[in-house]
Amino acid sequence: MNNQSPNQSLNKSQNLTPTQKALSGLSKEQISNVLVRELGWEKYRVNQIHSWIYSKSSADFEEWTDLSADKRELLSEKFQIPLLKVVNHQISGKDGTEKFLFELSDGNVVESVLMCFEDRDNLTACISSQVGCAVGCPFCATGKLGLKRNLTAAEIVDQIMSIQRTTNKRISNLVFMGQGEPLHNLDNLLEAIQIIRDSIAIGVRHITVSTSGLIPQILELGKTKMQINLAISLHTADQDLREKLVPIAKKWNLFDLMRSLNEYFQMTGRRITFEYTLLKDINDTDEQARALCDLVRDLPFPCLINLIPYNSTGGEFQRPDRSQVSKFKSIVERSGRKVTVRVTLGNDIDAACGQLANKAIENK
Ligand code: SF4
Repeated sequence: MNNQSPNQSLNKSQNLTPTQKALSGLSKEQISNVLVRELGWEKYRVNQIHSWIYSKSSADFEEWTDLSADKRELLSEKFQIPLLKVVNHQISGKDGTEKFLFELSDGNVVESVLMCFEDRDNLTACISSQVGCAVGCPFCATGKLGLKRNLTAAEIVDQIMSIQRTTNKRISNLVFMGQGEPLHNLDNLLEAIQIIRDSIAIGVRHITVSTSGLIPQILELGKTKMQINLAISLHTADQDLREKLVPIAKKWNLFDLMRSLNEYFQMTGRRITFEYTLLKDINDTDEQARALCDLVRDLPFPCLINLIPYNSTGGEFQRPDRSQVSKFKSIVERSGRKVTVRVTLGNDIDAACGQLANKAIENK
């Protein structure tokens, strides 16, 4: 199923002209720099415009009626909202998951996903942090794209605002599990999280950053004491196998990774989540389950293990049988740790974990 958004044709016409800067995705201070310093406007205008962008989610200068017609015209000559163009919007016929393909001003594209879990009222958005990814996990569709570039903070923020504007829904939770390794783009990620917290009002405790395990950046994130939830793409407790599944593990081994996670917990007090993608006959065996059980049993910090039955990306890997997923879960539960199996959402539109590969652009 490939449902087009009613807003899609509208958004297709929203191209940035070379002389236009984007006003969306900016912090209040950055908006102030533009309005007060560049245009010489009065300071109180900053709050007005910030409110139109973030509280009222308006992307139409004509609606900004507390500004004079002259000022609205000047804004529309010089600036553009939004920064990102929605070029494809699919809605799963199975579970209502929505996938967005955004075009950036340089022609690159990224994807984001909006998920609604049956047992929760709130909406979670899965956001991208890079165009492609350098880590190259062999089972991940994004990894096959390679890294093109980091997203700017404004491009990260504008994914959220664009989803809210397009769907008229309010996002309450964010996971940085879309395209890219967020900690390879740490400065822009942190800047974006501050704007998200201050301008979109999503608290950092509702934000999860997922990493393949970059130790120096994990510690740097911890030092901010921002209480962000950290998820580690573990995928196996066996160092040799991990080096194949998550190539970055050749540089940062499991022992040092666990030590850094303990430090992260000491600095933030936040429980760590381990993401474990189950690949049939590779890391879903009883032996692998016992190794994971042994690893997590004695860790000195609280943790949750989230099992993710693999979502096909058309390659060599396969999804495990349900019975093996249950068996794997019960073995790991002997550690005394909480173990969950992630509900698969959006796999009919390639929006599930590991499936984000900008396919819609190939079909254009
Ligand atoms: S799983 Fe994550 S870290 Fe690995 S290639 Fe995909 S996006 Fe990058």
